[in-house]
Amino acid sequence: MAESRLSLLTSPALSYVSSSPASPWATYLAQVDRVMPYMGDLARWAGTLRRPKRVLTVDVPIQLDSGEIAHFEGYRVQHSLSRGPGKGGVRYHPDVSLEEVMALAAWMTIKNAAVNLPYGGAKGGIRVDPALLSIKELERVTRRYTSEIGIIIGPQQDIPAPDVNTNAQIMAWMMDTYSANVGATTTGVVTGKPISLGGSLGRVKATGRGVFITGREAMRRLKLPLEGARIAIQGFGNVGANAAELFAMAGARIVAVQDHGGGVFRAGGLDARALAAHVAEHGSVAGFEGGEALETEEFWTLDVDVVIPAALEGQLTEARAERLRARLVLEAANGPTVPGADDVLAARNITVLPDVICNAGGVIVSYFEWVQDFSSFFWTEEEINMRLDRILSGALAHIWSTAERHKVSLRTGAFIVACARILEARNERGLYP
Ligand code: NAD
Repeated sequence: MAESRLSLLTSPALSYVSSSPASPWATYLAQVDRVMPYMGDLARWAGTLRRPKRVLTVDVPIQLDSGEIAHFEGYRVQHSLSRGPGKGGVRYHPDVSLEEVMALAAWMTIKNAAVNLPYGGAKGGIRVDPALLSIKELERVTRRYTSEIGIIIGPQQDIPAPDVNTNAQIMAWMMDTYSANVGATTTGVVTGKPISLGGSLGRVKATGRGVFITGREAMRRLKLPLEGARIAIQGFGNVGANAAELFAMAGARIVAVQDHGGGVFRAGGLDARALAAHVAEHGSVAGFEGGEALETEEFWTLDVDVVIPAALEGQLTEARAERLRARLVLEAANGPTVPGADDVLAARNITVLPDVICNAGGVIVSYFEWVQDFSSFFWTEEEINMRLDRILSGALAHIWSTAERHKVSLRTGAFIVACARILEARNERGLYP
């Protein structure tokens, strides 16, 4: 009786999201539903994970250099604030949508809880192609957007950071605009800032370093020696190139690298530093003389120990998963494995280290930046790297043992750990009123 009243009273789905099962929000909901059976009594709070706490859509009008007025749609979604302030990046892309930002915010809630940072989850975005703007127009868009979302962000409320097409300069403008509006220099309102404005040492390389740390720990558990391990990396940008350098320094062989321009292969191992220099000069790994050219699909069939997708979402499809010959996939990118491929890889006994832990190094050092800004006391890079290693190794050990105990994948294990922490916090806080 009570149940039917509850189902009558509670709206089954949010009126402002599409019902497409292929949407990122639908993927997130399916991931949450999968772990609710492990939540015991806490599952009665599941609804707090299935809807964002706060959704803000803003109009961002700016004057173009030509004098015309352009309007852009902007968002800031705070998916959960149960464990602390919102935390998550801001994306500038013409395809950004509210539903995508909602899913990205929700995955930040999971990531922050999976590695036990005292944050909820949030994300922002503007539907804009920044390549079409002048630098002055980009600054005006950023400042107006910051002012519009200023009613919900703040160092204790919600702390943005860089994401796709945003960087340290954009964070500096955001910090300056917020500070001007509140009348006090507030460095802790964003992370990923330039070092001169309260940014943290080690932040730029943190995500790649996190991929290396979690990869090292996973390989140890799988009894895959790091020394001489053959690794293939898709994406040689901030994350891929920094991870490659650390793996190479530890004795692994980077046998293949693929990016948007092409691929290169060398059985004995590519020189990661020389490759990075080639990319800096030519914009792509294509044409690198220290290896032979590699076709796009060949990359996914190589006889290697580890594959690291570090480029875009949705790259590891079912078809590619069928042909993959690696023992371990390190998800450096966000969402690189499609849900169907997860099942194929599990059936083939290929371990997938999920993005929520594998690429959490960036948000962990963002957390260090925020802590340093609050205390106005800055740490050495050695201290930062040591603390990053300790947090990530501990988080991986906890997720690994949870997955083993429940006989589930590491992705489901990470969701169990994260959702239990979030729902427990929600339960202890109780409901107001
Ligand atoms: P980046 O722009 O520096 O590099 C992206 C790389 O992907 C480039 O080498 C590019 O050539 C390659 N690429 C693009 N399209 C491709 C295609 N179709 N096929 C093959 N390669 C392609 O980006 P990044 O900061 O290194 O981010 C990479 C991934 O890691 C993204 O999924 C991002 O969301 C995720 N991530 C980044 C951070 C961070 O701190 N930078 C943190 C967490 C997650």
